[in-house]
Amino acid sequence: MTRSTDTLSAEIGVIGGTGFYEMDGLSDISRIQIDTPFGSPSSLITIGTVHQRRVAFISRHNEGHQILPSEIPSHANIYALKKIGVRQILTVSAVGSLREELSPRHAVVPDQLIDRTHGRSSTFFGNGAVAHVGFADPFDPTLCEALASGAETAGITTHRGGTLIVMEGPAFSTRAESSLNRNSGASIIGMTALPEAKLAREAELCYASLCLITDYDVWHKSESDVSSELIIKNLRSNAENAKHAISQAIASLDKSLVECECRDALSNALITPPTLVPKATRQRLELITERYWGPA
Ligand SMILES: [Zn+2]
Repeated sequence: MTRSTDTLSAEIGVIGGTGFYEMDGLSDISRIQIDTPFGSPSSLITIGTVHQRRVAFISRHNEGHQILPSEIPSHANIYALKKIGVRQILTVSAVGSLREELSPRHAVVPDQLIDRTHGRSSTFFGNGAVAHVGFADPFDPTLCEALASGAETAGITTHRGGTLIVMEGPAFSTRAESSLNRNSGASIIGMTALPEAKLAREAELCYASLCLITDYDVWHKSESDVSSELIIKNLRSNAENAKHAISQAIASLDKSLVECECRDALSNALITPPTLVPKATRQRLELITERYWGPA
């Protein structure tokens, strides 16, 4: 079957986390495999229409939950979304709470990040090309507001703002680590928003994260210790809520993009003169650097 390019493009990307393996309510659906210079995305990409918007969905851990947080092909996921025309990315993550007032099954839309991952590549650059993007405010404020209002409309108790720590995992924190994380001022802890958010910034895409709380982590004395059983129970209900929240967030997003810093993130970030960048590197980066460096 031939399809027009338009059918295989999308304006909004959605990356679903644990428990959120497919989008509800999409029509005119295509499922496509997109190959990138950074490998294959986590899952086939589902492109469809909801609330008159073309949306591309990726299941971060793949539909059968086969990919560890450390193994998520974030470069390929972000690159593939950019390739099909996405400008804004809404993501969903399961997190643990580090604050009494942030209860299991509540939603948090964080405005800050602390990177405690190790060994994950967090850049598209390297191999002869150096770039340093600004990342002081890692999330796009318009998308944060859309996610928070979408979650509220979906009936979820929602907290605007807060700091998300991203740890390496896959084991959960020790009590000492949980205490350290609380003392760092963070609100919630997860394993997947990085390097995703950094790569989205390098690709000049707006990015925000809806975090659904599954548990209180191990610092909380009155709760039974974080266990897979408890987490899975809350995950199921959170995932259903998240689907509803994402749909409402999409409905609330304006077609015309609000001005923001994300979409010009590379304008002062590219350090290496393009003439010194090896051709293979330029070709691999062309989708995101062509605007500044011209065709590879
Ligand atoms: Zn933005």
